[in-house]
Amino acid sequence: MFRIRRIYDDTLPINKDAIAQIEQILRQQFNDLSEAEIKILPEQLRNPLKYRFRSILFVADDNKGRVKGFALLYHVVDLNFCYLDFLSAAPQRTGGGIGGALYENVREASLHFSGEGLFFECLPDDPKLCSDPNVLKQNIARLRFYERYGARPVCNTAYETPLKPEDDCPPYLVWDDLGTNKSLRREKAQAIVRAILERKYGDVCPQDYVTMVVNSFRDDPICLRAPKYVKKETGLPIPQMPSKAIKIALVINDQHDIHHVRERGYVEAPVRIHSIMKEILATGLFEKVEPRHFSEKHIKAVHDPQFVDYLKKVCANVPPNKSIYPYVFPLRNAARPPKELPIRAGYFCIDTFTPLNQNAFKAAKRAVDCVLTAVERILKGHSIAYALVRPPGHHAEYRAFGGFCYFNSVAVAANYLSSFGKVAILDIDYHHGNGQQNIFYNRADVLTISIHGHPSFAYPYFSGFADEIGEGAGKGFNINYPLSEHLDNQQYRKVLEKALKQIQKFTPQFLIVALGFDTAKGDPTGSWNLNANDFEVHGRLIGALGYPVMVVQEGGYKVRSLGNNARHFFWGLWKGFHWYYNGQNNGVG
Ligand SMILES: [Zn+2]
Repeated sequence: MFRIRRIYDDTLPINKDAIAQIEQILRQQFNDLSEAEIKILPEQLRNPLKYRFRSILFVADDNKGRVKGFALLYHVVDLNFCYLDFLSAAPQRTGGGIGGALYENVREASLHFSGEGLFFECLPDDPKLCSDPNVLKQNIARLRFYERYGARPVCNTAYETPLKPEDDCPPYLVWDDLGTNKSLRREKAQAIVRAILERKYGDVCPQDYVTMVVNSFRDDPICLRAPKYVKKETGLPIPQMPSKAIKIALVINDQHDIHHVRERGYVEAPVRIHSIMKEILATGLFEKVEPRHFSEKHIKAVHDPQFVDYLKKVCANVPPNKSIYPYVFPLRNAARPPKELPIRAGYFCIDTFTPLNQNAFKAAKRAVDCVLTAVERILKGHSIAYALVRPPGHHAEYRAFGGFCYFNSVAVAANYLSSFGKVAILDIDYHHGNGQQNIFYNRADVLTISIHGHPSFAYPYFSGFADEIGEGAGKGFNINYPLSEHLDNQQYRKVLEKALKQIQKFTPQFLIVALGFDTAKGDPTGSWNLNANDFEVHGRLIGALGYPVMVVQEGGYKVRSLGNNARHFFWGLWKGFHWYYNGQNNGVG
């Protein structure tokens, strides 16, 4: 077993150690590299601007952190192409499929960063160019491997001209169109080749050699050598791009607008979704997925079926543009719910400001559909999915709505996922996630953690205390971090790091984040001061756990900063994420 993960820098000890092992592999396998070239890697990772390219380092390691292979890819920012500098599966430690898994990650990343395909060098399989029969054999194996993906040497150029006449084995330039079937224009290829030769070999390549090679490109668009090893008639399929998409699956509630409470001061408004959507879609990180319909049974698995039926019925009966606010609450005689539907609202509600109206049920049901659609993406191999929904859900309990919430979408998702493995829920909304706590209080297979304003001053006021730790089998599986009204952002980060450690200890298969931006500076419902940078760091810390992660939008009401904070959070999450998967490449780690 091995996993593939991306390393962004050498900050974490585990990554520092992996980089040291990679340096050792480079020393062993690439004799002509100087120590300075080997040691530059961490600096290249940290400082893309200095080098004019972004370095993308994938490592294949086992659960003891032993590196079994790695790939180093550059995205050359100014010319927008990708160049694979190294792909190595350490021979003495090679297990099956590591090279293929690494190359598939490289292809996914290249496709994400640049549409111009992927370039790299490969030593020749032509006995006229390579005199050592052993080296020739290895070269043939390599070119055969890449040919399976459609990557073949660019032909009719002088790229493989030796620098000095006595040099053996000058490399081919290989191009992979990444399955796009696009062609590459000569002019673009020439600019790219010039960049490769000047930037990579600047100190050994004389300028007239560079010009000679660049001018040798005749074909427009460029052409690749005919397949030599993978013949169509052999029936060996040329693999397509792996299905495990690198983008974040995004499901947006397309029916959230119908739920619009126009009373003054009702901050849970449609504009929230629009401001987030506008900012995050521009990042290119997301892949939109249309929500699909799911049966109510998923909701009834975590909510009292009577409560679900009540909401449906009462909402359907409210006249258009009218709202019912609960106003009588049954502290006594809870076994006898009032007959009249509007009065009965208080029987199922925890506060006086969450109205029932004609569309509340429909919008909340659709939010659950979105979350379940996103869950399905995770089960099909997406590493990260985001349900951008409203109304929110984390205050909805087994048989109660409130706090702008009707159905607990996060709980529905967790319950659904729990049949595939243990689930951890991390609630980072400013307000306590009382809904999940209530629903999973007796369960050990779903860990609920919430970081929130202390109930002595923050909604919902009656829960979220540190001594609420779960009951029965669930004892120890509910963790609350009630924090003080005013705290600095460093303090918050420390608590988050502690919570993440507890999640790791629980070893879940899936992580669900109940994401609230009401922890941000200036939020009308909060008192803290988190800024865009903090959200990026938090995203990165959460992503670096390496679990498939499902994010569900909860609160956050300062419309002006919502989008920017969301963009930073997801950028961090995406950066922090390690792609985990096993040798079978089934996508779910
Ligand atoms: Zn909140």
